[in-house]
Amino acid sequence: MIRCLPAVAMAAVLLLQPAPAIVITGARVVDGTGASPRTADVRIEADRIVDVGKVMPRDGDIVVDAKGLVLAPGFIDIHNHSTGALQSEPDAATQVAQGITTIVVGADGSSPWPIAEYLAERRKNPAAVNVLVMVGHATVRRLVMGEDYKRPANDAEIARMAALVEQGMNEGAIGLSSGLEYETGSYSETKELVEIAKAAARHGGFYMSHIRDEADRAFEAFAEAIAIGEQAHIPVQISHIKLGTVGVWRKSAAVVKMVEAAHKRGVDVTADCYPYDAWHSTIAVLVPNKKYDDPASVKKGLDDVGGAANVMIDRDTAHPEYEFKTLEAIANAQNITPVDLFIQIVKDGGASVVATSMIEEDIRRFYTQPWVMVASDGGIGLRHPRTAGTFPRVLGKFVREQRWLSLPDAIRKMTDAPAARLKLADRGRIAPGMIADLVLFDPATIADRATFQEPFVLPMGMKGVWVGGIRVWDGSTTTGAHPGRSIR
Ligand SMILES: [Zn+2]
Repeated sequence: MIRCLPAVAMAAVLLLQPAPAIVITGARVVDGTGASPRTADVRIEADRIVDVGKVMPRDGDIVVDAKGLVLAPGFIDIHNHSTGALQSEPDAATQVAQGITTIVVGADGSSPWPIAEYLAERRKNPAAVNVLVMVGHATVRRLVMGEDYKRPANDAEIARMAALVEQGMNEGAIGLSSGLEYETGSYSETKELVEIAKAAARHGGFYMSHIRDEADRAFEAFAEAIAIGEQAHIPVQISHIKLGTVGVWRKSAAVVKMVEAAHKRGVDVTADCYPYDAWHSTIAVLVPNKKYDDPASVKKGLDDVGGAANVMIDRDTAHPEYEFKTLEAIANAQNITPVDLFIQIVKDGGASVVATSMIEEDIRRFYTQPWVMVASDGGIGLRHPRTAGTFPRVLGKFVREQRWLSLPDAIRKMTDAPAARLKLADRGRIAPGMIADLVLFDPATIADRATFQEPFVLPMGMKGVWVGGIRVWDGSTTTGAHPGRSIR
Protein backbone atom coordinates (compact mmCIF):
# COMPACT_ATOMS: atom_id res chain seq x y z
CA MET A 1 0.00 0.00 0.00
CA ILE A 2 2.82 2.36 0.88
CA ARG A 3 4.30 1.69 -2.53
CA CYS A 4 1.31 3.41 -4.21
CA LEU A 5 1.81 6.68 -2.39
CA PRO A 6 3.55 9.59 -4.11
CA ALA A 7 7.11 10.15 -2.92
CA VAL A 8 6.35 13.09 -0.67
CA ALA A 9 3.52 11.30 1.11
CA MET A 10 5.64 8.19 1.44
CA ALA A 11 8.41 10.14 3.10
CA ALA A 12 5.83 11.54 5.51
CA VAL A 13 4.59 8.04 6.35
CA LEU A 14 8.14 6.82 6.93
CA LEU A 15 8.85 9.78 9.19
CA LEU A 16 5.74 9.09 11.21
CA GLN A 17 6.54 5.42 11.62
CA PRO A 18 8.57 4.81 14.75
CA ALA A 19 11.78 2.86 14.20
CA PRO A 20 11.29 -0.82 15.02
CA ALA A 21 12.28 -1.86 18.51
CA ILE A 22 15.52 -3.80 18.89
CA VAL A 23 15.82 -6.82 21.14
CA ILE A 24 19.31 -8.08 21.92
CA THR A 25 18.92 -11.62 23.21
CA GLY A 26 21.01 -13.90 25.39
CA ALA A 27 23.92 -11.51 25.99
CA ARG A 28 26.19 -11.57 29.00
CA VAL A 29 25.26 -8.15 30.28
CA VAL A 30 28.04 -6.23 32.02
CA ASP A 31 26.04 -3.23 33.14
CA GLY A 32 28.77 -0.67 33.87
CA THR A 33 28.40 -0.55 37.66
CA GLY A 34 31.05 -3.18 38.32
CA ALA A 35 28.41 -5.84 39.05
CA SER A 36 29.00 -9.42 37.88
CA PRO A 37 27.89 -10.34 34.38
CA ARG A 38 24.41 -11.85 34.02
CA THR A 39 22.68 -13.36 31.05
CA ALA A 40 19.78 -11.18 29.92
CA ASP A 41 17.88 -9.76 26.97
CA VAL A 42 17.74 -6.03 26.37
CA ARG A 43 14.89 -4.22 24.61
CA ILE A 44 15.50 -0.85 22.97
CA GLU A 45 12.70 1.48 21.84
CA ALA A 46 13.70 4.66 20.03
CA ASP A 47 16.82 5.93 21.83
CA ARG A 48 16.20 4.24 25.20
CA ILE A 49 16.70 0.92 26.93
CA VAL A 50 13.19 -0.06 28.06
CA ASP A 51 13.64 -3.54 29.45
CA VAL A 52 16.46 -5.74 30.77
CA GLY A 53 15.80 -9.36 31.74
CA LYS A 54 13.66 -11.99 30.05
CA VAL A 55 12.29 -10.16 27.02
CA MET A 56 10.03 -11.74 24.38
CA PRO A 57 10.55 -10.15 20.96
CA ARG A 58 7.33 -8.95 19.31
CA ASP A 59 6.35 -8.95 15.63
CA GLY A 60 8.41 -6.44 13.68
CA ASP A 61 11.18 -6.16 16.24
CA ILE A 62 14.76 -6.38 15.09
CA VAL A 63 16.30 -9.30 16.97
CA VAL A 64 20.04 -9.51 17.57
CA ASP A 65 21.26 -12.89 18.79
CA ALA A 66 24.05 -12.14 21.26
CA LYS A 67 24.72 -15.58 22.65
CA GLY A 68 28.35 -15.83 23.78
CA LEU A 69 28.87 -12.09 23.50
CA VAL A 70 29.19 -9.34 26.09
CA LEU A 71 26.80 -6.39 26.01
CA ALA A 72 28.08 -3.31 27.81
CA PRO A 73 27.28 0.40 27.89
CA GLY A 74 28.96 2.43 25.13
CA PHE A 75 32.47 3.52 26.04
CA ILE A 76 32.93 7.13 27.12
CA ASP A 77 36.32 8.55 26.15
CA ILE A 78 36.98 11.42 28.52
CA HIS A 79 40.16 12.56 26.73
CA ASN A 80 39.83 12.60 22.96
CA HIS A 81 41.42 14.72 20.24
CA SER A 82 38.81 14.37 17.46
CA THR A 83 37.77 18.03 17.87
CA GLY A 84 38.06 19.09 14.22
CA ALA A 85 37.97 15.69 12.58
CA LEU A 86 34.37 15.00 13.60
CA GLN A 87 33.48 17.35 10.77
CA SER A 88 35.61 15.71 8.07
CA GLU A 89 35.19 12.11 9.29
CA PRO A 90 31.79 11.92 10.98
CA ASP A 91 31.68 8.11 10.63
CA ALA A 92 34.59 8.06 13.11
CA ALA A 93 35.53 4.48 12.21
CA THR A 94 38.61 4.34 14.46
CA GLN A 95 36.45 5.42 17.37
CA VAL A 96 33.26 3.39 16.97
CA ALA A 97 35.16 0.23 15.97
CA GLN A 98 36.63 0.17 19.47
CA GLY A 99 33.26 0.83 21.10
CA ILE A 100 33.52 4.55 21.80
CA THR A 101 30.07 6.17 21.74
CA THR A 102 30.81 9.46 23.53
CA ILE A 103 33.91 11.63 23.41
CA VAL A 104 35.10 14.65 25.35
CA VAL A 105 37.11 17.16 23.32
CA GLY A 106 38.95 20.34 24.26
CA ALA A 107 41.51 18.60 26.45
CA ASP A 108 45.06 19.65 27.36
CA GLY A 109 44.12 23.33 27.63
CA SER A 110 43.18 23.93 24.04
CA SER A 111 39.57 24.02 22.96
CA PRO A 112 37.50 25.28 20.10
CA TRP A 113 36.24 28.81 20.51
CA PRO A 114 33.57 30.09 20.73
CA ILE A 115 32.09 27.03 22.42
CA ALA A 116 28.56 27.88 21.25
CA GLU A 117 29.69 27.97 17.64
CA TYR A 118 31.43 24.61 17.92
CA LEU A 119 28.40 22.95 19.47
CA ALA A 120 26.07 24.52 16.91
CA GLU A 121 28.30 23.13 14.17
CA ARG A 122 28.15 19.67 15.75
CA ARG A 123 24.36 19.85 15.96
CA LYS A 124 24.18 20.85 12.31
CA ASN A 125 26.60 18.11 11.22
CA PRO A 126 26.33 15.34 13.79
CA ALA A 127 28.84 12.51 13.84
CA ALA A 128 28.44 8.84 14.78
CA VAL A 129 29.50 9.60 18.36
CA ASN A 130 28.20 11.97 21.02
CA VAL A 131 30.42 14.90 21.91
CA LEU A 132 31.04 17.06 24.96
CA VAL A 133 33.46 19.96 25.08
CA MET A 134 35.78 21.48 27.67
CA VAL A 135 36.88 25.12 27.65
CA GLY A 136 40.66 25.34 27.38
CA HIS A 137 42.88 27.37 29.70
CA ALA A 138 45.45 28.02 26.98
CA THR A 139 42.68 29.05 24.61
CA VAL A 140 41.31 31.73 26.93
CA ARG A 141 44.86 32.72 27.99
CA ARG A 142 45.78 33.53 24.39
CA LEU A 143 42.49 35.37 23.87
CA VAL A 144 43.36 37.61 26.81
CA MET A 145 47.16 37.91 26.55
CA GLY A 146 47.70 37.57 22.80
CA GLU A 147 51.35 37.14 21.88
CA ASP A 148 52.45 38.54 25.25
CA TYR A 149 51.75 35.27 27.06
CA LYS A 150 55.25 34.25 28.16
CA ARG A 151 54.80 35.53 31.69
CA PRO A 152 52.43 35.16 34.65
CA ALA A 153 49.10 36.90 34.10
CA ASN A 154 48.15 39.91 36.24
CA ASP A 155 44.93 40.15 38.24
CA ALA A 156 43.01 42.01 35.54
CA GLU A 157 44.01 39.42 32.95
CA ILE A 158 43.04 36.58 35.26
CA ALA A 159 39.64 38.21 35.78
CA ARG A 160 39.16 38.43 32.01
CA MET A 161 40.14 34.77 31.60
CA ALA A 162 37.67 33.80 34.31
CA ALA A 163 34.94 35.73 32.49
CA LEU A 164 35.74 33.84 29.28
CA VAL A 165 35.62 30.52 31.12
CA GLU A 166 32.19 31.51 32.45
CA GLN A 167 31.13 32.41 28.93
CA GLY A 168 32.32 29.00 27.71
CA MET A 169 30.47 27.22 30.50
CA ASN A 170 27.31 29.21 29.75
CA GLU A 171 27.62 28.25 26.11
CA GLY A 172 27.77 24.54 26.92
CA ALA A 173 31.28 23.56 28.04
CA ILE A 174 31.28 21.00 30.85
CA GLY A 175 34.54 21.96 32.52
CA LEU A 176 37.95 23.57 32.27
CA SER A 177 41.00 21.85 30.80
CA SER A 178 44.65 22.81 31.15
CA GLY A 179 47.87 21.69 29.50
CA LEU A 180 50.58 23.02 31.78
CA GLU A 181 53.41 21.20 30.07
CA TYR A 182 52.64 22.97 26.81
CA GLU A 183 53.92 26.35 25.74
CA THR A 184 51.00 28.69 26.55
CA GLY A 185 49.94 27.04 29.79
CA SER A 186 53.46 26.58 31.13
CA TYR A 187 53.82 30.27 31.98
CA SER A 188 50.81 30.31 34.27
CA GLU A 189 51.02 30.36 38.04
CA THR A 190 48.88 28.15 40.27
CA LYS A 191 46.94 31.22 41.44
CA GLU A 192 45.75 31.91 37.89
CA LEU A 193 44.45 28.34 37.55
CA VAL A 194 42.69 28.46 40.92
CA GLU A 195 40.86 31.64 39.96
CA ILE A 196 39.65 30.42 36.60
CA ALA A 197 38.82 26.98 38.01
CA LYS A 198 36.51 28.76 40.46
CA ALA A 199 34.67 30.18 37.45
CA ALA A 200 34.16 26.67 36.07
CA ALA A 201 33.12 25.40 39.52
CA ARG A 202 30.38 28.03 39.76
CA HIS A 203 28.77 26.37 36.75
CA GLY A 204 29.11 22.82 38.03
CA GLY A 205 32.17 22.04 35.92
CA PHE A 206 35.28 20.02 36.72
CA TYR A 207 38.98 20.70 36.19
CA MET A 208 40.88 18.37 33.85
CA SER A 209 44.63 18.75 33.61
CA HIS A 210 47.59 17.59 31.62
CA ILE A 211 49.72 18.41 34.62
CA ARG A 212 52.83 20.60 34.61
CA ASP A 213 55.32 17.75 34.65
CA GLU A 214 54.97 14.01 34.06
CA ALA A 215 58.66 13.42 34.65
CA ASP A 216 61.16 14.20 37.42
CA ARG A 217 58.91 16.85 38.94
CA ALA A 218 55.70 14.87 38.58
CA PHE A 219 55.05 14.88 42.32
CA GLU A 220 55.03 18.68 42.47
CA ALA A 221 52.68 18.63 39.50
CA PHE A 222 50.28 16.13 41.11
CA ALA A 223 50.32 18.28 44.24
CA GLU A 224 49.49 21.38 42.21
CA ALA A 225 46.54 19.70 40.47
CA ILE A 226 45.17 18.54 43.82
CA ALA A 227 45.72 22.00 45.37
CA ILE A 228 43.77 23.62 42.54
CA GLY A 229 40.87 21.28 43.26
CA GLU A 230 41.08 21.96 46.96
CA GLN A 231 41.30 25.73 46.69
CA ALA A 232 38.76 26.18 43.91
CA HIS A 233 36.36 23.54 45.31
CA ILE A 234 36.25 21.73 42.01
CA PRO A 235 36.57 18.04 41.09
CA VAL A 236 39.92 17.21 39.46
CA GLN A 237 40.62 14.83 36.59
CA ILE A 238 44.31 14.10 36.04
CA SER A 239 44.73 13.40 32.34
CA HIS A 240 46.73 10.40 31.09
CA ILE A 241 48.34 9.77 34.48
CA LYS A 242 51.92 8.57 34.09
CA LEU A 243 55.44 8.52 35.51
CA GLY A 244 57.48 9.23 32.44
CA THR A 245 61.13 9.39 33.43
CA VAL A 246 63.70 7.04 34.90
CA GLY A 247 63.87 9.20 38.04
CA VAL A 248 60.23 8.58 38.99
CA TRP A 249 59.75 5.03 37.72
CA ARG A 250 58.34 2.63 40.31
CA LYS A 251 56.92 5.47 42.39
CA SER A 252 53.26 4.90 41.51
CA ALA A 253 52.52 3.63 45.01
CA ALA A 254 53.45 7.08 46.33
CA VAL A 255 51.13 8.72 43.79
CA VAL A 256 48.30 6.47 44.90
CA LYS A 257 48.98 7.43 48.51
CA MET A 258 48.91 11.10 47.62
CA VAL A 259 45.58 10.83 45.82
CA GLU A 260 44.06 8.73 48.60
CA ALA A 261 45.17 11.34 51.16
CA ALA A 262 43.41 13.99 49.06
CA HIS A 263 40.25 11.84 48.99
CA LYS A 264 40.37 11.72 52.80
CA ARG A 265 40.48 15.53 52.90
CA GLY A 266 37.37 15.58 50.72
CA VAL A 267 39.01 16.46 47.40
CA ASP A 268 37.35 14.70 44.48
CA VAL A 269 40.34 13.50 42.43
CA THR A 270 40.14 10.99 39.60
CA ALA A 271 42.39 10.21 36.65
CA ASP A 272 42.51 8.48 33.32
CA CYS A 273 45.25 6.34 31.83
CA TYR A 274 45.93 5.01 28.35
CA PRO A 275 47.15 1.43 28.04
CA TYR A 276 50.52 2.07 26.37
CA ASP A 277 54.05 2.51 27.68
CA ALA A 278 54.88 5.24 25.20
CA TRP A 279 53.66 8.79 24.88
CA HIS A 280 53.19 10.86 21.77
CA SER A 281 53.92 14.57 21.75
CA THR A 282 56.21 17.22 20.34
CA ILE A 283 59.94 16.59 20.55
CA ALA A 284 60.30 19.77 22.62
CA VAL A 285 58.48 18.16 25.56
CA LEU A 286 61.62 16.08 26.17
CA VAL A 287 63.42 19.19 27.44
CA PRO A 288 61.18 20.73 30.11
CA ASN A 289 63.47 23.70 30.83
CA LYS A 290 63.03 24.72 27.17
CA LYS A 291 66.79 25.07 26.58
CA TYR A 292 66.51 23.21 23.30
CA ASP A 293 69.99 24.15 22.11
CA ASP A 294 71.79 23.47 25.37
CA PRO A 295 73.55 20.10 25.01
CA ALA A 296 73.47 19.36 28.75
CA SER A 297 69.70 19.95 28.98
CA VAL A 298 69.06 17.88 25.87
CA LYS A 299 71.27 15.07 27.15
CA LYS A 300 69.37 15.02 30.44
CA GLY A 301 66.07 14.95 28.54
CA LEU A 302 67.14 11.92 26.52
CA ASP A 303 68.63 10.13 29.54
CA ASP A 304 65.40 10.70 31.44
CA VAL A 305 63.38 8.57 29.04
CA GLY A 306 65.98 5.82 29.08
CA GLY A 307 68.04 7.02 26.10
CA ALA A 308 67.74 8.02 22.43
CA ALA A 309 66.71 4.48 21.49
CA ASN A 310 63.42 5.10 23.30
CA VAL A 311 62.49 8.10 21.13
CA MET A 312 60.99 7.47 17.69
CA ILE A 313 60.18 10.28 15.25
CA ASP A 314 56.75 9.76 13.76
CA ARG A 315 56.24 13.11 11.98
CA ASP A 316 58.91 15.48 10.74
CA THR A 317 57.92 17.81 7.93
CA ALA A 318 61.47 19.02 7.30
CA HIS A 319 62.90 15.47 7.35
CA PRO A 320 60.27 12.91 6.33
CA GLU A 321 63.13 10.42 5.94
CA TYR A 322 63.42 10.35 9.76
CA GLU A 323 59.90 9.07 10.27
CA PHE A 324 59.58 5.78 12.19
CA LYS A 325 63.24 5.77 13.10
CA THR A 326 64.64 6.30 16.58
CA LEU A 327 66.89 9.24 17.41
CA GLU A 328 69.62 6.72 18.12
CA ALA A 329 69.36 5.06 14.71
CA ILE A 330 69.25 8.36 12.83
CA ALA A 331 72.21 9.76 14.77
CA ASN A 332 74.25 6.59 14.23
CA ALA A 333 73.59 6.71 10.49
CA GLN A 334 74.76 10.33 10.35
CA ASN A 335 77.72 9.81 12.66
CA ILE A 336 76.57 12.53 15.04
CA THR A 337 75.40 12.37 18.65
CA PRO A 338 71.68 12.08 19.43
CA VAL A 339 72.04 15.40 21.28
CA ASP A 340 73.28 17.20 18.16
CA LEU A 341 70.54 15.54 16.14
CA PHE A 342 67.88 16.73 18.59
CA ILE A 343 69.18 20.30 18.43
CA GLN A 344 69.15 20.19 14.63
CA ILE A 345 65.60 18.81 14.47
CA VAL A 346 64.26 21.54 16.76
CA LYS A 347 66.08 24.19 14.68
CA ASP A 348 64.48 22.79 11.53
CA GLY A 349 61.00 23.19 12.92
CA GLY A 350 60.59 20.32 15.34
CA ALA A 351 58.91 16.97 15.02
CA SER A 352 56.43 14.78 16.80
CA VAL A 353 57.79 11.79 18.63
CA VAL A 354 56.79 8.58 20.33
CA ALA A 355 58.79 8.10 23.51
CA THR A 356 58.76 4.75 25.28
CA SER A 357 59.20 5.95 28.80
CA MET A 358 56.69 4.32 31.13
CA ILE A 359 57.02 0.96 32.81
CA GLU A 360 54.47 -1.80 33.23
CA GLU A 361 54.63 -1.85 37.02
CA ASP A 362 53.37 1.74 37.22
CA ILE A 363 50.76 1.35 34.49
CA ARG A 364 49.41 -1.72 36.22
CA ARG A 365 49.21 -0.01 39.61
CA PHE A 366 47.33 2.93 38.10
CA TYR A 367 44.93 0.65 36.22
CA THR A 368 43.98 -1.24 39.34
CA GLN A 369 42.89 1.89 41.25
CA PRO A 370 39.11 2.41 41.33
CA TRP A 371 39.57 6.15 40.64
CA VAL A 372 41.45 5.58 37.38
CA MET A 373 39.42 5.41 34.16
CA VAL A 374 40.29 4.29 30.66
CA ALA A 375 40.69 7.10 28.12
CA SER A 376 42.46 7.15 24.78
CA ASP A 377 44.12 10.55 24.47
CA GLY A 378 43.80 9.58 20.81
CA GLY A 379 41.47 10.89 18.18
CA ILE A 380 40.58 10.56 14.53
CA GLY A 381 43.79 10.93 12.53
CA LEU A 382 46.14 11.12 15.52
CA ARG A 383 49.13 8.91 14.78
CA HIS A 384 49.38 6.71 17.86
CA PRO A 385 47.95 3.21 18.22
CA ARG A 386 45.79 4.45 21.08
CA THR A 387 43.68 6.21 18.42
CA ALA A 388 42.23 2.89 17.24
CA GLY A 389 43.30 0.46 19.92
CA THR A 390 42.78 1.77 23.45
CA PHE A 391 39.58 0.15 24.68
CA PRO A 392 40.01 -3.28 22.98
CA ARG A 393 43.62 -3.33 24.24
CA VAL A 394 42.46 -3.01 27.84
CA LEU A 395 39.83 -5.74 27.31
CA GLY A 396 42.16 -8.08 25.42
CA LYS A 397 45.52 -7.53 27.06
CA PHE A 398 44.85 -6.31 30.59
CA VAL A 399 41.63 -8.26 31.27
CA ARG A 400 41.85 -11.49 29.25
CA GLU A 401 45.59 -12.09 28.91
CA GLN A 402 47.23 -10.53 31.94
CA ARG A 403 44.23 -10.63 34.31
CA TRP A 404 45.15 -7.31 35.87
CA LEU A 405 41.49 -6.52 36.38
CA SER A 406 38.13 -8.18 36.03
CA LEU A 407 35.87 -7.56 33.06
CA PRO A 408 33.21 -5.72 35.14
CA ASP A 409 35.93 -3.50 36.66
CA ALA A 410 37.38 -2.68 33.26
CA ILE A 411 33.94 -1.90 31.82
CA ARG A 412 33.14 0.37 34.78
CA LYS A 413 36.31 2.36 34.02
CA MET A 414 35.04 2.84 30.44
CA THR A 415 31.41 3.66 31.22
CA ASP A 416 29.90 4.44 34.62
CA ALA A 417 33.08 6.02 36.04
CA PRO A 418 33.50 8.63 33.28
CA ALA A 419 29.71 9.14 33.15
CA ALA A 420 29.78 10.03 36.85
CA ARG A 421 32.66 12.46 36.34
CA LEU A 422 30.77 14.07 33.45
CA LYS A 423 27.45 14.05 35.36
CA LEU A 424 25.76 12.09 32.58
CA ALA A 425 22.77 10.73 34.46
CA ASP A 426 21.34 8.66 31.61
CA ARG A 427 24.48 7.13 30.07
CA GLY A 428 27.18 4.73 31.22
CA ARG A 429 24.91 1.97 32.55
CA ILE A 430 22.59 -0.67 31.18
CA ALA A 431 19.23 -0.25 32.91
CA PRO A 432 15.67 0.62 31.88
CA GLY A 433 15.39 4.33 31.12
CA MET A 434 19.05 4.78 30.16
CA ILE A 435 19.96 5.96 26.67
CA ALA A 436 20.78 3.02 24.40
CA ASP A 437 24.48 3.66 23.83
CA LEU A 438 25.67 0.05 23.71
CA VAL A 439 28.57 -2.15 22.64
CA LEU A 440 28.46 -5.84 21.84
CA PHE A 441 31.77 -7.70 21.68
CA ASP A 442 33.32 -11.13 21.84
CA PRO A 443 35.34 -11.34 25.09
CA ALA A 444 37.36 -14.24 23.70
CA THR A 445 38.68 -12.38 20.66
CA ILE A 446 38.50 -8.66 21.37
CA ALA A 447 41.95 -7.20 20.72
CA ASP A 448 43.70 -4.12 19.41
CA ARG A 449 45.69 -4.32 16.20
CA ALA A 450 46.98 -0.77 15.77
CA THR A 451 50.75 -0.26 15.98
CA PHE A 452 53.03 2.77 15.90
CA GLN A 453 53.77 2.02 12.23
CA GLU A 454 50.11 1.41 11.40
CA PRO A 455 48.14 3.35 13.98
CA PHE A 456 44.78 3.19 12.22
CA VAL A 457 44.31 -0.59 11.91
CA LEU A 458 40.93 -1.32 13.44
CA PRO A 459 40.60 -3.73 16.36
CA MET A 460 38.89 -7.10 16.19
CA GLY A 461 36.05 -8.59 18.18
CA MET A 462 33.67 -5.63 18.26
CA LYS A 463 30.39 -7.00 16.90
CA GLY A 464 28.02 -4.08 17.22
CA VAL A 465 27.85 -0.51 18.49
CA TRP A 466 24.69 1.55 19.00
CA VAL A 467 24.44 5.26 19.74
CA GLY A 468 21.02 6.36 20.96
CA GLY A 469 19.52 3.10 19.69
CA ILE A 470 20.97 3.55 16.18
CA ARG A 471 23.59 1.09 15.00
CA VAL A 472 26.83 2.83 13.97
CA TRP A 473 29.12 -0.24 13.73
CA ASP A 474 27.80 -3.51 12.33
CA GLY A 475 30.75 -5.76 13.20
CA SER A 476 32.86 -5.09 10.16
CA THR A 477 32.14 -1.55 9.05
CA THR A 478 30.51 1.75 9.96
CA THR A 479 26.86 2.06 8.98
CA GLY A 480 26.96 5.69 7.88
CA ALA A 481 24.48 6.69 10.58
CA HIS A 482 25.29 9.87 12.52
CA PRO A 483 23.09 9.81 15.62
CA GLY A 484 25.69 11.50 17.87
CA ARG A 485 24.45 14.39 19.94
CA SER A 486 26.09 17.41 21.49
CA ILE A 487 25.69 16.97 25.21
CA ARG A 488 25.98 19.83 27.69
ZN1 LIG B 1 47.78 15.68 27.25
